[in-house]
Amino acid sequence: MAEKISAVKGMNDILPPEAARWEWLEGIVREQMARFAYRNIRTPILEHTALFVRGIGEVTDIVEKEMYSFEDRSDKHGQAEHLTMRPEGTAAAVRAVVEHNLLYDGGKRLFYMGPMFRREKPQRGRYRQFHQLGIEALGFAGPDVDAEVILLAASLWKRIGLTDVRLELNSLGQPAERAAHRAQLIAHFEQHADKLDEDGKRRLHSNPLRILDTKNPAMKDVVDSAPKLIDFLGEASLAHLNGLRAILDANGVAYTINPRLVRGLDYYNLTVFEFVTDRLGAQGTVCAGGRYDDLIVQIGGKSAPAVGWAMGIERVLALLEEQGGQGFVAPVPDVYAVVPDASAMPVVLQTLVALREAGVRVQMHAAGPDGQGSFKSQFKKADASGARFALIFGADELARGEVTLKALRDGSGAQRSCPLADVAQWAATLQFPAAQGATP
Ligand code: ATP
Ligand code: MG
Repeated sequence: MAEKISAVKGMNDILPPEAARWEWLEGIVREQMARFAYRNIRTPILEHTALFVRGIGEVTDIVEKEMYSFEDRSDKHGQAEHLTMRPEGTAAAVRAVVEHNLLYDGGKRLFYMGPMFRREKPQRGRYRQFHQLGIEALGFAGPDVDAEVILLAASLWKRIGLTDVRLELNSLGQPAERAAHRAQLIAHFEQHADKLDEDGKRRLHSNPLRILDTKNPAMKDVVDSAPKLIDFLGEASLAHLNGLRAILDANGVAYTINPRLVRGLDYYNLTVFEFVTDRLGAQGTVCAGGRYDDLIVQIGGKSAPAVGWAMGIERVLALLEEQGGQGFVAPVPDVYAVVPDASAMPVVLQTLVALREAGVRVQMHAAGPDGQGSFKSQFKKADASGARFALIFGADELARGEVTLKALRDGSGAQRSCPLADVAQWAATLQFPAAQGATP
């Protein structure tokens, strides 16, 4: 046998039983986006490296050490492009909005779902290929839209039955306020330079705010005692924050103000927030976002405000499972077809096609290398499939132009004959009242 080839480290196969949970979540997400009038956008996996360097910021974990970047083959002029597999979705969404001038007739509300790539140390809740659901509301300036994106997430948690998350909120103010804070922050960290780790020392002058985002527990004290940006906010920034808080309060959305919350990406201003849990260890942030009014200009567009968030799908599903995975029902067929010898298969498949056209979910027993197997072994498979009915294509029945339908789940074992000539008539009685795996 040839040597086996395994998947790339940190990149997971999502196999059928687990993928059904993903489809369930994705179905609810699509419904949820429709309720809030957010429209789907799909951008390429590969972008020019410059987009992320400019959009995310040079002094960030992602750009400094996590990107999958490469030089493409040269074209006929000997020019090679620097490309990167997208590590997040916002920069690309903004690039597309600018490139296609989507804001020409007013604001846009967008969402995306798909794989992202970061070369991190793989561990539970942290992978090299992972998946995000993200939303972006572009062209809207007020705290009402900050509230809308947060309420959209909060109501999504409700619909999928996620209870173990809490909301943390902060304001990063505006550039002038950050500059005043930055000076005092640098002074504070210089005073305690001996307590900074390597990343901290390197960022002390390039991006001291990011030191607050450290995951190093040894730096907790020096970070906790640092001057707080929220104390440097002017009237307008405070009014924005208070406007958001009033809407969240009116909607019963609980939150705490976390002055250390600065987010891992450079492009945020005013509102930043995270939904966090204590149940996933160091990978406790399930959804994170904020306002990024300056990003569109950085990417070459006409100045426009924007706010959004991104959610880690793996983390949300892990947390749901941790909690007992309410809501999700594994998909099962309505009917399992128990089949006779090969000569009957044309009639069997004709009947099954008619059933499927009538909306019935049908799993056909198919022959393995050793043939169909006995009716008994087929019934075992029918049972294991979870189907509510077995549809038995016995030779005698077929000769009479009939097929036998047997109840598998209600304990009755009841059987009845159904005419092959009129599948649509009895097909209607076979489906589950609510389709399995449907969205609530
Ligand atoms: P962390 O602090 O955990 O590294 P981050 O600040 O880098 O997260 P964002 O860039 O804000 O994360 O991405 C939004 C969300 O995407 C995160 O809150 C998390 O749920 C998810 N996420 C980020 N990186 C990964 C990863 N490597 N594997 C799985 N999920 C991830
Ligand atoms: Mg990260």
